[in-house]
Amino acid sequence: MRKVAFLGIGNMGNPMALNLNKAGFEVQAFDVSEGAKKAGRQAGLNVLEDVASCVKDVEVIISMLPASQYVEDLYLGEEGLINLAPQGALLIDCSTIAAKSSQKVAEAAEAAGFSMIDAPVSGGTAGAAGGTLTFMVGGDQAVLEKARPLLEAMGKKIFYAGPSGSGQVAKICNNMLLAIHMIGSSEALALGHANGMDTSVLSEILLQSSGRNWSLELYNPWPGVQEGVPASRDYQGGFAVDLMAKDLSLSQEAALASNTSTPLGALARNLYRMHSQNGNGRLDFSSILNLVKDA
Ligand code: NAD
Repeated sequence: MRKVAFLGIGNMGNPMALNLNKAGFEVQAFDVSEGAKKAGRQAGLNVLEDVASCVKDVEVIISMLPASQYVEDLYLGEEGLINLAPQGALLIDCSTIAAKSSQKVAEAAEAAGFSMIDAPVSGGTAGAAGGTLTFMVGGDQAVLEKARPLLEAMGKKIFYAGPSGSGQVAKICNNMLLAIHMIGSSEALALGHANGMDTSVLSEILLQSSGRNWSLELYNPWPGVQEGVPASRDYQGGFAVDLMAKDLSLSQEAALASNTSTPLGALARNLYRMHSQNGNGRLDFSSILNLVKDA
């Protein structure tokens, strides 16, 4: 399975598709945004003009889209991938969406004779660029084994989470926790700063103490403390506030549906929604620091 269509070459999809190219897969890409197409071509991807020509004759289709409705629209309906994809193609959706949407699309795909897995990722844009993503896979384990060589070209760790939709459940649990420790890390740095501490020194201390966490270690929200992270480039690129707010809404929907108490998750969702409503929806999610620190 060497010929791959990659749909959705935004912040994550672009570097993921490039890593497939580097590993020797023959990738044809498509995006609805002219900007993403241009960036894809500049990066060296073979970007085609429409979905139908992108999926023609491929053996695998990978999608990396913003949210549930985009995925349902792309796969379902008369013009959907399920009608356009070559027979027997392996379908892999890496978007973070509702487990219910993943199950709905996978059921329709299977009814039409396709194999499909949900394979959302963790690791951010740096993980996508470095080929070190973590994949959380839902669906049939035998289908994961078929997909494994492709996932290994884009990531380092591949987990089988369970039946269809389970990858999405693992992902929203992870992102709820990520949002909580990003807000907590921002509060700690803001508190230290307001009390006269150098935030670089404070970060070093916290990283060697019990407050250590992924946000502080690899994604420090304070501008200038770490090189190469969104905070040090005006929160451009990275993982958008609106996408984090979407994931937190998905985790709250799942909490309501299962009658689970997630009070910090609920608060995190509200803080990210407020931050978005203040005009920050397209900034990286570590910009939540600006909501908690003094001007
Ligand atoms: P993005 O908005 O940068 O990219 C999504 C791309 O999909 C856009 O370029 C958009 O134009 C394109 N698109 C929308 N509909 C399409 C269609 N029908 N056909 C082809 N392209 C279409 O978002 P992103 O940051 O790359 O995130 C993508 C997914 O990955 C989201 O579900 C997000 O939650 C998840 N995710 C993101 C990160 C991150 O750090 N950015 C990390 C893990 C997971």
